[in-house]
Amino acid sequence: MEHQLTIYNTLDRKKELFVPLHAPHVGMYVCGPTVYGDAHLGHARPAITFDVLFRYLTHLGYKVRYVRNITDVGHLEHDADEGEDKIAKKARLEQLEPMEVVQYYLNRYHKAMEALNVLPPSIEPHASGHIIEQIELVQKILDAGYAYISEGSVYFDVAKYNKDHHYGKLSGRNLDDVLNTTRELDGQQEKRNPADFALWKKAQPEHIMRWPSPWSDGFPGWHAECTAMGRKYLGEHFDIHGGGMDLIFPHHECEIAQSVASQGDDMVHYWMHNNMITINGTKMGKSLGNFITLDEFFKGSHPLLTQAYTPMTIRFFILQAHYRSTVDFSNEALQASEKGLERLIKGYTLIKELNATNCDSDFDVKGLKQKCEEALNDDLNTPMVISHLSEATRYINAVYAGKAKISPADITILDSIFNIFLFNILGINKEQNTNSTEKEIQYQQAVDLLLNIRQKAKSEKRWEEADFIRDELEKIGFNIKDTKDGTKWHLKS
Ligand SMILES: [Zn+2]
Repeated sequence: MEHQLTIYNTLDRKKELFVPLHAPHVGMYVCGPTVYGDAHLGHARPAITFDVLFRYLTHLGYKVRYVRNITDVGHLEHDADEGEDKIAKKARLEQLEPMEVVQYYLNRYHKAMEALNVLPPSIEPHASGHIIEQIELVQKILDAGYAYISEGSVYFDVAKYNKDHHYGKLSGRNLDDVLNTTRELDGQQEKRNPADFALWKKAQPEHIMRWPSPWSDGFPGWHAECTAMGRKYLGEHFDIHGGGMDLIFPHHECEIAQSVASQGDDMVHYWMHNNMITINGTKMGKSLGNFITLDEFFKGSHPLLTQAYTPMTIRFFILQAHYRSTVDFSNEALQASEKGLERLIKGYTLIKELNATNCDSDFDVKGLKQKCEEALNDDLNTPMVISHLSEATRYINAVYAGKAKISPADITILDSIFNIFLFNILGINKEQNTNSTEKEIQYQQAVDLLLNIRQKAKSEKRWEEADFIRDELEKIGFNIKDTKDGTKWHLKS
């Protein structure tokens, strides 16, 4: 496979040429959602970023095994080692089985991802389905001497590990920084050092999600699942591990420590992280009142939204920024994306209507394909791809207006460039880019049109025709009322 794909490796803090361990196979692991609430913009970003990478690697000819996990146990509040399990808490509040909570939000997550045209991963393992693998991992770390048992729980011995290896190499922290920023929480007395993290937690009597283990009835620590499931499905060494930047510490740092402690080295070759999304310049958070779910975006049903946005507008908006830059949401920015995407799709539909001339094109169409590839090879520079496609759209419009020329061969190439880059790799689905409010307007206009025809029939005393239109509309379910201000209608509920 001839390509020059470079990706930014968080571990080395630089762009590196992507060389897979076992070409043509590529193993990619991305941390998936903790399913205890509806997906929001922050979930869309890693899903879309790594979807584009998945699509591009496939386009280059690789056979990608893409694993994206579902965290359905062990993720405690504040990402800490104490506090309540996020899913168990939701289950308790809503009086549901924990797995009912998981299934409900997982279904909704899948629906939102499908709307965003995010391809399903090759494997979507659940943490709760891999308890045995996690127990084995914990046992290996204990055997290697990097963990200890305390009151039925097992903790990773960060200080001991740090003597032999570097704890903090991914996040650029050292143990003193970690200690200075570690919050003192209840139950810390079980730990030898506040920086230690739980590999296995003994369940309190009221805790519903529990499994037997050599140490206690309990549940695995949050970080254990990704190491255990990554190894199970992708092997001891695999190519790419991705996720949001907020996962670098502690989650991914702990994953590296678990991996090195249990098998002697890190499993991952390239660590990739997408940046965060802010809303009107501030961090998104439930308590800040600016927490907008994807569903609310699609329906326009949040007070901060001035309208509904199609899933494709959201996708395009996210791809208009490089994945390592922050993205700031605002209605103005989304409206600009909506227009930008419309222009590209309109440009694409005009390609078929262009008149070719038997002379050279005024635009380097062949070079365009290479430019789009170069942009993607440069650490997935999607905004650059979009800018190249916008340039092509301006050229298409000029040809259409008779102000530029295109050769017959270049029309075919242009068509394939849009199909490859805009639709297959950036994953824009042109059929999905219709706004429901726009559809509603069209439907309202159609009913108004029928009523105008009826009005005309009435004024020309064609009573039979006028009554026919009213009766048929009523049969379909409309309520028609003639008032002194004209005919009013609504759908009977
Ligand atoms: Zn993870």
